[in-house]
Amino acid sequence: MAAQGTSSAPKPARNAAGPLGSTRDKAAKWTFPRLAVGFDVAKPSIKSLHLDELTQHISAQGAPSYRAKQITDWLYEKRVASFAEMTDLPAATRAQLAKDFSLNQPEVVRVLGSKDTTRKFLFRLTDGNLIESVLIPASPALYGETSDRRTICVSTQVGCAYGCKFCASGLDGFTRNLDPNEIVDQLLVVEAESGEKIDNIVFMGMGEPLANLTNLLRAIRIINAPWGLGIGARHITISTSGLAPQIRKLALEPTQFRLAISLHGATDEVRSQIMPVNRRYNLATLFDACDYYIAQKKRLMFEYILIAGVNDSDEQAHALARRAGRLSAKVNLIPYNTVEGLKWSRPSRNRQENFLRILRDHGAVATLRREKGHDISAACGQLRLQTKRTEVDPAISVSR
Ligand code: SAH
Ligand code: SF4
Repeated sequence: MAAQGTSSAPKPARNAAGPLGSTRDKAAKWTFPRLAVGFDVAKPSIKSLHLDELTQHISAQGAPSYRAKQITDWLYEKRVASFAEMTDLPAATRAQLAKDFSLNQPEVVRVLGSKDTTRKFLFRLTDGNLIESVLIPASPALYGETSDRRTICVSTQVGCAYGCKFCASGLDGFTRNLDPNEIVDQLLVVEAESGEKIDNIVFMGMGEPLANLTNLLRAIRIINAPWGLGIGARHITISTSGLAPQIRKLALEPTQFRLAISLHGATDEVRSQIMPVNRRYNLATLFDACDYYIAQKKRLMFEYILIAGVNDSDEQAHALARRAGRLSAKVNLIPYNTVEGLKWSRPSRNRQENFLRILRDHGAVATLRREKGHDISAACGQLRLQTKRTEVDPAISVSR
């Protein structure tokens, strides 16, 4: 395939709210106690607040500060659905909370898959937008975890502005950032629906997490905090298409979460063909940011989707091995999941194994994911896209 020029300005994704690669971050406008983004702007969700902010709020109203911890216990331990159920709070405090905050949850509109397999959850947010999460059972090939852990793949935006050519999430462009509570609620609702405890979180659902950095970090703090969901930072993985400036910001974050870089091309020529973001932050810029990240004593890994005839050549494998080796970064190879309406496909098993062997021959630490969920449209954004299309044209059937 002919390579596209690397010097021309990148084409913004359809319906994208801003230019590609923009550092625009609506959530930066987040001010307590109002949310800048979201449906009910008059009433922020209480699940977007941190314990110290809640304490501040409660104290300002003349209530004892220990009430704040009682509230987070109701939210994240007992997981009640209304303020009325917070029975150890005085009635007046409950009424005030209900006045100041919302406690909405996204509605589960569809679940695909069954217990012991990958399950996909489609949510409708309070403003009607659709997002999805995937619950993945134990998988030794997934991110090096060999235990019986359950992983949730979480969305951070409605749609995506980055328009990677192979990805369903970018097909309809970008709609908006998720609020912190909309990120946290994906875990809470999936645990409630499935009856399972989630051990691992990967921010690999719809959207570019680092384009919603403020809300992402706010949600991660709630997920990580002992007063919140108490999930260890090492069990939280952020995936990015390579927003170099935000990678540098993450490098300075004290929380020890993991970072995965979606590389998918080991040379600018190949990467720019499929990831327009590479024309904004090319490999040299991206790897400078990766060097900086690693210099802060942090580790990162690379994800590399194998797409037949696009990025699966021996030359790409050699170049990838050199790049990963220099940073001592692990490589996760992922066979491409076909997306309806897109021309890309995965290479044969032989070619996948061949690519892996080249990496290993160079001494790179690499795994090839025998991924689950191919059958239930598990690649990010696909279920939402099918459902949206069905809603527009009910003649298109979506299997349950
Ligand atoms: N925007 C972030 C995180 C969400 S995408 C990022 O790009 O990293 C999470 C991962 O799924 C990325 O590595 C992305 O390239 C990959 N992905 C997208 N579509 C896919 C598909 N059809 N098959 C396999 N992986 C896919
Ligand atoms: Fe967005 Fe990631 Fe999909 Fe690229 S791969 S369009 S950055 S969600």
